[in-house]
Amino acid sequence: MTATWAAPGRINLIGEHVDYNEGLVLPFALSMATTASVTANDSGVVTVTSDTADEPATFSVDVQPGDVTGWAAYVAGVVWAVREKIDQPAEGAGDPAGGISGLEVTIRSDVPVGAGLSSSAALECSVACAINAELGLGLDRVTIAALARRAENDFVGVPTGSMDQLASMLCEEGHALFLDCRTMQTRAVPFDPDHADLTLLVIDTHAEHELAGSEYGDRRTSCEEAASRLGLDSLRDATLDQVTSLSDPVLLRRARHVVTEIHRVSDVVQRLEAAGQTAEIGGLLTASHQSLRDDFEVSCEELDVAVSSALLAGALGARMTGGGFGGCAIALCPSAAAGAVKQSVRAAYDEHGWREPTIWAASPARGAASVEPDPG
Ligand code: ADP
Ligand code: MG
Repeated sequence: MTATWAAPGRINLIGEHVDYNEGLVLPFALSMATTASVTANDSGVVTVTSDTADEPATFSVDVQPGDVTGWAAYVAGVVWAVREKIDQPAEGAGDPAGGISGLEVTIRSDVPVGAGLSSSAALECSVACAINAELGLGLDRVTIAALARRAENDFVGVPTGSMDQLASMLCEEGHALFLDCRTMQTRAVPFDPDHADLTLLVIDTHAEHELAGSEYGDRRTSCEEAASRLGLDSLRDATLDQVTSLSDPVLLRRARHVVTEIHRVSDVVQRLEAAGQTAEIGGLLTASHQSLRDDFEVSCEELDVAVSSALLAGALGARMTGGGFGGCAIALCPSAAAGAVKQSVRAAYDEHGWREPTIWAASPARGAASVEPDPG
């Protein structure tokens, strides 16, 4: 038998750089997805091919962290995390169904890689879902998201939060996923721009700045320091009055972003849940961008130009999305203005002599799902 599952990439609508402050985030799934087909065998090895990789990869079924590097580490990490899970079934659970004695894995994807749309979680989740189905493991979606995150954190070695994997597993069509990073509670929030004659454009700037890695660590440290100076475990508990009392101007601005951003996420959720207020989130998206640019200082010229040129041409709101220093921006537009917004962004990039950005309309899609394998 062969099991085939597709898992999507995601965009974070709002709630940036707040996951590691136990804050609130609001991602939605893209229709772009990674599809994994898994066939079990008794070879003792896992063989993986991907349409985006030149060479197939092969590793032992009892692969350990450090054994595999490069793109195949994301797949090996999932195999490792699943094996660890089924080797130690929860108390009271039935026998693990069979274990892993060999797998053939085939990957196809139309999620842009490294653009901040979470191709990594799409890859991990599609593979984990297909293994779960092929071996009849009966793992639920939240458990699969946790295994996928474990693969990325503890096997690949990238210290991400849970948002990407939970979004890929739990999102619903026409909805965003409200995630409280403190309690890990989630809720589907209606978000259907088309229904309100709106278009959500994604603008891939193709910009990549070296800073991203080191600055990310630096921001995390600043947030921890600000919380500790306020005598708090995390900035989730801080008020605006508290953070504006911080004497260090840099810590003040970093913390102010976190506190105001968490408020903006709540505001957006409130508006989306009040029928007919989708257009009203525009101002909050733009305020988020300004805060990320001025207080958190994680934007870059390419993102700022994408946002300002979109607003100039009639977008209701626009912001950078993802960690910053490159990647994608989003712009919420009246559908009638979407063409003009695209043109305005392209013209601004042309004026700067930058590579043409890729721009497309995104509709909130479903999370991971079983698909019919390709015939042939
Ligand atoms: P993002 O998740 O934002 O796309 P990451 O750096 O987290 O960026 O993950 C990108 C990496 O994930 C790629 O460099 C590659 O190693 C791996 N990857 C993602 N999708 C695929 C795929 N379809 N096939 C092979 N490797 C992939
Ligand atoms: Mg990623």
